[in-house]
Amino acid sequence: MTNELVYEGKAKRLFKTEENGVLRVAYKDDATALNGVRKESFAGKGELNNQITSLIFSRLAEEGIRSHFIRAISETEQLVKEVSIIPLEVVVRNVMAGSLAKRLGKEEGEVIPRAIVEFYYKDDALDDPFINDDHVLYLDIATTSEMEKIRDAARSINEVLKKLFNQMNITLIDFKLEFGRDAAGSILLADEISPDTCRLWDKETNQKLDKDVFRRNIGNLTDVYTEVLNRLKQVQN
Ligand code: UDP
Repeated sequence: MTNELVYEGKAKRLFKTEENGVLRVAYKDDATALNGVRKESFAGKGELNNQITSLIFSRLAEEGIRSHFIRAISETEQLVKEVSIIPLEVVVRNVMAGSLAKRLGKEEGEVIPRAIVEFYYKDDALDDPFINDDHVLYLDIATTSEMEKIRDAARSINEVLKKLFNQMNITLIDFKLEFGRDAAGSILLADEISPDTCRLWDKETNQKLDKDVFRRNIGNLTDVYTEVLNRLKQVQN
């Protein structure tokens, strides 16, 4: 196994492997908020997110959604196809929360009848600004046809995830996706889908089972991520 670091992000490290076009992702125990200004480490978080993401990406593959995910290779690591990441944070919202509730002056918890798909420009120095299609074209981030593919994929992924979390007695409030281009230029789902990147509320109690417990200091991150993993394992067929 080679140890050449390709990229280090806030929650993961990416390494080369012996195989061309295949990378190894190692999940870290770090949690960050406020664009990295607040940072804390939680023993076991990397393991939890690696397992949760692996189970979710496997389910998406069964439902015909193509992603970079190949397979988990250890408690904290997985193999993925190398893609060039499109610098967009694609957010899908089923229920009002977080930054959109603030921006539109709405109460958190209000159901959004038709899911809202949003693009943010992935740029830490700019604090990931909200952008529209014209900005995406101007910045040369993606073509019109790629944006259409990304939006369609985001909506299909939302349908699969809503059903999955519903079986786990969880409401999928909102989540963030990232996409990349493979060597052939095809758009693939990439990054992770975990309680770091989703808002998940218990259907009965509305208890938050996601990174908001850390962002808002309202609970134990490891405990709620463990709860999500346990429920996810229970609905595996
Ligand atoms: N999100 C994320 N990474 C980001 C920003 C947002 O994973 O850099 C996720 C977040 O966990 C939530 C959804 O995207 O599930 C919508 O986040 P929002 O825009 O409401 O931002 P926040 O309130 O987290 O600042």
